[in-house]
Amino acid sequence: MMEKSLSSPRRCGLAAALLVALLGSACAAETTGEREGAQRDTARTVKERGAAGPGGPGGAGGPGGPGGSPADRAESVRKSQALRAVAARKWGLDRTPLAAPPPPAVKPVITTRKGFEVEGGEYLPPVFTTVPVTERVVFLTIDDGTEKDPELLRMMSELQIPYSAFLSDYVINDNYGYFREMRDRGVALHNHTLNHRYMPGLSYSAQKREICGQQSNLARLYGKRPPLFRPPYGNYNQDTLRAASACGVKAVPLWAAEAFPDHMEWREWDRDLHPGDIILTHFRGTEDWEGTMPDMIRQVMRTVTEKGYAVARLEDYV
Ligand SMILES: [Zn+2]
Repeated sequence: MMEKSLSSPRRCGLAAALLVALLGSACAAETTGEREGAQRDTARTVKERGAAGPGGPGGAGGPGGPGGSPADRAESVRKSQALRAVAARKWGLDRTPLAAPPPPAVKPVITTRKGFEVEGGEYLPPVFTTVPVTERVVFLTIDDGTEKDPELLRMMSELQIPYSAFLSDYVINDNYGYFREMRDRGVALHNHTLNHRYMPGLSYSAQKREICGQQSNLARLYGKRPPLFRPPYGNYNQDTLRAASACGVKAVPLWAAEAFPDHMEWREWDRDLHPGDIILTHFRGTEDWEGTMPDMIRQVMRTVTEKGYAVARLEDYV
Protein backbone atom coordinates (compact mmCIF):
# COMPACT_ATOMS: atom_id res chain seq x y z
CA MET A 1 0.00 0.00 0.00
CA MET A 2 1.85 3.03 -1.16
CA GLU A 3 0.24 5.75 0.82
CA LYS A 4 3.41 7.51 1.77
CA SER A 5 3.40 9.53 -1.41
CA LEU A 6 0.20 11.18 -0.25
CA SER A 7 1.47 12.42 3.05
CA SER A 8 4.20 14.90 2.33
CA PRO A 9 2.48 17.39 0.03
CA ARG A 10 -0.75 17.24 1.95
CA ARG A 11 0.80 17.64 5.40
CA CYS A 12 2.67 20.59 4.07
CA GLY A 13 -0.52 22.32 2.87
CA LEU A 14 -2.26 21.45 6.08
CA ALA A 15 0.51 22.85 8.25
CA ALA A 16 0.32 26.16 6.41
CA ALA A 17 -3.46 26.30 6.75
CA LEU A 18 -3.13 25.39 10.41
CA LEU A 19 -0.64 28.16 11.05
CA VAL A 20 -3.03 30.69 9.52
CA ALA A 21 -5.93 29.37 11.59
CA LEU A 22 -4.04 29.21 14.87
CA LEU A 23 -2.52 32.65 14.57
CA GLY A 24 -6.06 33.98 14.47
CA SER A 25 -5.65 35.78 11.16
CA ALA A 26 -7.49 33.23 9.04
CA CYS A 27 -8.19 34.68 5.65
CA ALA A 28 -10.99 32.74 3.99
CA ALA A 29 -9.49 33.02 0.53
CA GLU A 30 -6.10 31.78 1.66
CA THR A 31 -7.55 28.87 3.60
CA THR A 32 -9.73 27.84 0.67
CA GLY A 33 -6.69 28.09 -1.56
CA GLU A 34 -4.83 25.70 0.71
CA ARG A 35 -7.73 23.30 0.66
CA GLU A 36 -7.98 23.36 -3.12
CA GLY A 37 -4.24 22.93 -3.34
CA ALA A 38 -4.45 19.90 -1.09
CA GLN A 39 -7.18 18.43 -3.27
CA ARG A 40 -5.20 19.02 -6.45
CA ASP A 41 -2.22 17.33 -4.81
CA THR A 42 -4.44 14.42 -3.83
CA ALA A 43 -5.83 14.01 -7.33
CA ARG A 44 -2.37 14.25 -8.86
CA THR A 45 -0.79 11.87 -6.39
CA VAL A 46 -3.56 9.31 -6.86
CA LYS A 47 -2.94 9.45 -10.60
CA GLU A 48 0.80 9.15 -10.17
CA ARG A 49 0.37 6.28 -7.80
CA GLY A 50 -1.73 4.43 -10.33
CA ALA A 51 0.82 5.02 -13.05
CA ALA A 52 4.10 4.82 -11.20
CA GLY A 53 3.56 2.32 -8.44
CA PRO A 54 5.81 2.14 -5.39
CA GLY A 55 8.86 4.36 -5.39
CA GLY A 56 7.44 6.46 -8.21
CA PRO A 57 7.34 10.24 -8.30
CA GLY A 58 5.72 12.07 -5.41
CA GLY A 59 7.45 9.88 -2.83
CA ALA A 60 9.02 10.96 0.42
CA GLY A 61 11.16 14.06 0.43
CA GLY A 62 8.94 17.00 1.31
CA PRO A 63 10.22 19.49 3.87
CA GLY A 64 10.92 17.60 7.05
CA GLY A 65 10.00 14.33 5.36
CA PRO A 66 12.27 11.33 5.43
CA GLY A 67 14.20 12.83 2.49
CA GLY A 68 15.27 15.94 4.44
CA SER A 69 18.50 16.25 6.43
CA PRO A 70 18.35 15.45 10.16
CA ALA A 71 18.68 19.19 10.90
CA ASP A 72 15.76 19.99 8.56
CA ARG A 73 13.69 17.34 10.24
CA ALA A 74 14.54 18.55 13.75
CA GLU A 75 13.58 22.10 12.78
CA SER A 76 10.34 20.93 11.19
CA VAL A 77 9.44 18.86 14.28
CA ARG A 78 10.21 21.82 16.55
CA LYS A 79 7.92 24.09 14.53
CA SER A 80 5.11 21.61 14.35
CA GLN A 81 5.35 20.83 18.09
CA ALA A 82 5.12 24.56 18.84
CA LEU A 83 1.90 24.71 16.81
CA ARG A 84 0.64 21.61 18.55
CA ALA A 85 1.30 23.12 21.97
CA VAL A 86 -0.91 26.09 21.03
CA ALA A 87 -3.59 23.75 19.70
CA ALA A 88 -3.37 21.53 22.81
CA ARG A 89 -4.12 24.53 25.04
CA LYS A 90 -6.97 25.62 22.78
CA TRP A 91 -8.59 22.16 22.84
CA GLY A 92 -8.11 21.58 26.57
CA LEU A 93 -5.48 18.82 26.45
CA ASP A 94 -3.37 18.37 29.59
CA ARG A 95 -0.22 17.78 27.56
CA THR A 96 0.99 18.40 24.03
CA PRO A 97 0.77 15.20 21.93
CA LEU A 98 4.22 13.73 21.28
CA ALA A 99 5.74 13.87 17.80
CA ALA A 100 5.73 10.57 15.93
CA PRO A 101 9.03 9.37 14.45
CA PRO A 102 9.38 9.54 10.65
CA PRO A 103 7.48 6.75 8.89
CA PRO A 104 9.51 3.61 8.22
CA ALA A 105 11.22 3.35 4.82
CA VAL A 106 9.95 -0.21 4.58
CA LYS A 107 6.67 -1.32 6.15
CA PRO A 108 6.96 -4.13 8.71
CA VAL A 109 5.86 -7.64 7.75
CA ILE A 110 2.55 -8.25 9.48
CA THR A 111 1.30 -11.71 10.32
CA THR A 112 -1.87 -12.94 12.01
CA ARG A 113 -1.84 -12.74 15.79
CA LYS A 114 -1.50 -16.06 17.58
CA GLY A 115 -4.92 -17.41 18.47
CA PHE A 116 -6.57 -15.34 15.73
CA GLU A 117 -5.83 -17.76 12.84
CA VAL A 118 -8.36 -19.44 10.55
CA GLU A 119 -7.65 -22.55 8.50
CA GLY A 120 -5.71 -21.68 5.36
CA GLY A 121 -5.14 -18.21 6.80
CA GLU A 122 -1.50 -18.03 5.65
CA TYR A 123 -2.83 -17.11 2.18
CA LEU A 124 -5.42 -14.65 3.51
CA PRO A 125 -5.12 -11.05 4.80
CA PRO A 126 -3.46 -10.98 8.25
CA VAL A 127 -5.59 -10.30 11.35
CA PHE A 128 -3.72 -8.37 14.05
CA THR A 129 -4.18 -6.07 17.01
CA THR A 130 -0.65 -4.60 17.20
CA VAL A 131 1.75 -3.56 14.44
CA PRO A 132 5.23 -5.07 14.98
CA VAL A 133 7.34 -1.99 15.78
CA THR A 134 9.81 -1.15 18.52
CA GLU A 135 9.16 2.61 18.68
CA ARG A 136 6.64 4.01 21.14
CA VAL A 137 3.87 4.67 18.63
CA VAL A 138 0.22 3.66 18.69
CA PHE A 139 -2.50 3.98 16.06
CA LEU A 140 -5.93 5.52 16.42
CA THR A 141 -8.88 4.05 14.49
CA ILE A 142 -12.47 5.30 14.60
CA ASP A 143 -15.36 3.03 13.57
CA ASP A 144 -18.88 3.10 12.14
CA GLY A 145 -19.61 6.79 11.40
CA THR A 146 -22.79 7.62 13.31
CA GLU A 147 -21.67 10.90 14.91
CA LYS A 148 -20.49 13.51 12.41
CA ASP A 149 -19.08 16.23 14.63
CA PRO A 150 -17.34 19.05 12.70
CA GLU A 151 -15.38 19.87 15.87
CA LEU A 152 -13.60 16.53 15.60
CA LEU A 153 -12.28 17.38 12.13
CA ARG A 154 -10.95 20.75 13.28
CA MET A 155 -9.53 19.38 16.52
CA MET A 156 -7.61 16.54 14.89
CA SER A 157 -6.23 18.77 12.12
CA GLU A 158 -5.07 21.44 14.55
CA LEU A 159 -3.55 18.89 16.92
CA GLN A 160 -2.06 17.01 13.94
CA ILE A 161 -3.26 13.68 15.31
CA PRO A 162 -3.49 11.04 12.57
CA TYR A 163 -6.33 8.53 12.61
CA SER A 164 -8.03 6.09 10.26
CA ALA A 165 -11.79 5.70 9.79
CA PHE A 166 -13.56 2.35 9.30
CA LEU A 167 -16.92 3.20 7.81
CA SER A 168 -20.19 1.31 7.59
CA ASP A 169 -22.58 2.55 4.91
CA TYR A 170 -25.81 2.30 6.90
CA VAL A 171 -24.64 5.03 9.30
CA ILE A 172 -22.69 7.30 6.93
CA ASN A 173 -25.27 7.43 4.10
CA ASP A 174 -27.10 10.44 5.55
CA ASN A 175 -23.99 12.60 5.19
CA TYR A 176 -21.27 11.33 2.87
CA GLY A 177 -19.90 14.88 2.65
CA TYR A 178 -18.63 14.77 6.23
CA PHE A 179 -16.22 11.98 5.36
CA ARG A 180 -15.20 13.68 2.11
CA GLU A 181 -14.06 16.58 4.27
CA MET A 182 -12.25 14.11 6.53
CA ARG A 183 -10.50 12.55 3.53
CA ASP A 184 -9.49 16.00 2.30
CA ARG A 185 -7.80 16.55 5.66
CA GLY A 186 -5.60 13.50 5.04
CA VAL A 187 -7.55 10.76 6.82
CA ALA A 188 -7.70 7.34 5.13
CA LEU A 189 -11.21 5.84 4.91
CA HIS A 190 -11.50 2.05 5.19
CA ASN A 191 -14.12 -0.69 4.97
CA HIS A 192 -16.42 -1.68 7.87
CA THR A 193 -19.14 -3.31 5.63
CA LEU A 194 -22.41 -1.99 4.21
CA ASN A 195 -24.74 -2.95 7.07
CA HIS A 196 -22.61 -3.89 10.10
CA ARG A 197 -23.80 -7.50 10.32
CA TYR A 198 -22.35 -10.28 12.45
CA MET A 199 -20.25 -11.75 9.65
CA PRO A 200 -19.88 -15.38 10.86
CA GLY A 201 -23.68 -15.63 10.73
CA LEU A 202 -23.71 -14.92 6.98
CA SER A 203 -22.92 -17.16 4.00
CA TYR A 204 -19.75 -16.57 2.01
CA SER A 205 -21.66 -14.79 -0.76
CA ALA A 206 -23.58 -12.58 1.70
CA GLN A 207 -20.31 -11.63 3.40
CA LYS A 208 -18.80 -10.87 0.02
CA ARG A 209 -21.72 -8.56 -0.82
CA GLU A 210 -21.22 -6.74 2.50
CA ILE A 211 -17.50 -6.24 1.93
CA CYS A 212 -17.24 -5.80 -1.86
CA GLY A 213 -20.35 -3.60 -1.80
CA GLN A 214 -18.69 -1.21 0.63
CA GLN A 215 -15.40 -1.35 -1.32
CA SER A 216 -17.21 -0.14 -4.44
CA ASN A 217 -19.24 2.36 -2.49
CA LEU A 218 -16.19 3.95 -0.88
CA ALA A 219 -14.30 3.93 -4.20
CA ARG A 220 -17.19 5.69 -5.94
CA LEU A 221 -17.67 8.22 -3.13
CA TYR A 222 -14.08 8.91 -2.14
CA GLY A 223 -11.95 7.84 -5.09
CA LYS A 224 -10.10 4.90 -3.58
CA ARG A 225 -10.75 1.20 -2.87
CA PRO A 226 -9.66 0.78 0.76
CA PRO A 227 -6.82 -1.66 1.46
CA LEU A 228 -7.98 -2.26 5.05
CA PHE A 229 -11.12 -3.93 6.40
CA ARG A 230 -12.38 -4.39 9.95
CA PRO A 231 -15.24 -6.82 10.55
CA PRO A 232 -18.09 -5.54 12.75
CA TYR A 233 -17.54 -6.41 16.44
CA GLY A 234 -14.19 -7.91 15.42
CA ASN A 235 -15.98 -11.18 14.52
CA TYR A 236 -14.91 -13.14 11.46
CA ASN A 237 -14.43 -16.64 10.10
CA GLN A 238 -12.52 -18.12 7.19
CA ASP A 239 -15.25 -17.00 4.75
CA THR A 240 -14.88 -13.41 5.97
CA LEU A 241 -11.16 -13.36 5.18
CA ARG A 242 -11.67 -15.16 1.86
CA ALA A 243 -14.35 -12.64 0.89
CA ALA A 244 -12.21 -9.71 2.06
CA SER A 245 -9.31 -10.99 -0.02
CA ALA A 246 -11.56 -11.40 -3.08
CA CYS A 247 -12.71 -7.79 -2.60
CA GLY A 248 -9.12 -6.50 -2.66
CA VAL A 249 -8.51 -6.15 1.08
CA LYS A 250 -4.85 -6.45 2.11
CA ALA A 251 -5.04 -6.53 5.90
CA VAL A 252 -7.55 -6.81 8.76
CA PRO A 253 -6.53 -4.64 11.71
CA LEU A 254 -8.45 -5.31 14.94
CA TRP A 255 -7.49 -3.49 18.16
CA ALA A 256 -5.56 -3.84 21.41
CA ALA A 257 -7.41 -1.15 23.38
CA GLU A 258 -10.71 0.69 23.12
CA ALA A 259 -11.22 4.35 24.03
CA PHE A 260 -14.35 5.92 25.56
CA PRO A 261 -14.86 9.51 26.78
CA ASP A 262 -14.36 8.44 30.41
CA HIS A 263 -12.15 5.36 30.31
CA MET A 264 -10.07 2.86 28.33
CA GLU A 265 -10.72 -0.86 27.90
CA TRP A 266 -7.80 -3.21 27.34
CA ARG A 267 -7.34 -6.49 25.53
CA GLU A 268 -4.10 -7.43 27.27
CA TRP A 269 -3.86 -8.69 30.84
CA ASP A 270 -1.47 -5.87 31.82
CA ARG A 271 -4.10 -3.22 30.94
CA ASP A 272 -1.45 -1.09 29.25
CA LEU A 273 -0.31 0.21 25.87
CA HIS A 274 2.52 -1.44 23.91
CA PRO A 275 4.51 -0.27 20.88
CA GLY A 276 2.36 -0.60 17.76
CA ASP A 277 -0.96 -1.10 19.57
CA ILE A 278 -4.06 -0.23 17.59
CA ILE A 279 -6.65 1.75 19.55
CA LEU A 280 -10.30 1.46 18.59
CA THR A 281 -12.92 4.08 19.23
CA HIS A 282 -16.22 5.09 17.60
CA PHE A 283 -17.93 8.07 16.01
CA ARG A 284 -20.45 8.56 18.81
CA GLY A 285 -22.18 11.48 20.46
CA THR A 286 -23.63 12.32 23.85
CA GLU A 287 -26.71 10.17 23.24
CA ASP A 288 -24.50 7.08 22.90
CA TRP A 289 -21.87 7.67 25.58
CA GLU A 290 -20.78 10.07 28.32
CA GLY A 291 -19.27 12.87 26.27
CA THR A 292 -18.55 14.45 22.91
CA MET A 293 -15.99 13.34 20.34
CA PRO A 294 -13.54 16.02 21.60
CA ASP A 295 -14.09 14.70 25.17
CA MET A 296 -13.18 11.22 23.97
CA ILE A 297 -10.06 12.49 22.18
CA ARG A 298 -8.97 14.41 25.32
CA GLN A 299 -9.31 11.21 27.35
CA VAL A 300 -7.44 8.94 24.95
CA MET A 301 -4.68 11.49 24.31
CA ARG A 302 -4.17 11.95 28.06
CA THR A 303 -3.57 8.20 28.35
CA VAL A 304 -1.39 7.95 25.24
CA THR A 305 0.79 10.96 26.05
CA GLU A 306 1.17 10.18 29.78
CA LYS A 307 2.40 6.72 28.87
CA GLY A 308 4.98 8.26 26.53
CA TYR A 309 3.46 7.25 23.19
CA ALA A 310 2.96 9.21 19.97
CA VAL A 311 0.06 8.57 17.60
CA ALA A 312 1.36 7.57 14.16
CA ARG A 313 -0.41 7.08 10.83
CA LEU A 314 -1.52 3.47 10.40
CA GLU A 315 -1.19 3.63 6.59
CA ASP A 316 2.52 4.51 6.97
CA TYR A 317 3.06 1.10 8.58
CA VAL A 318 0.42 -1.22 7.10
ZN1 LIG B 1 -18.53 -1.23 14.19
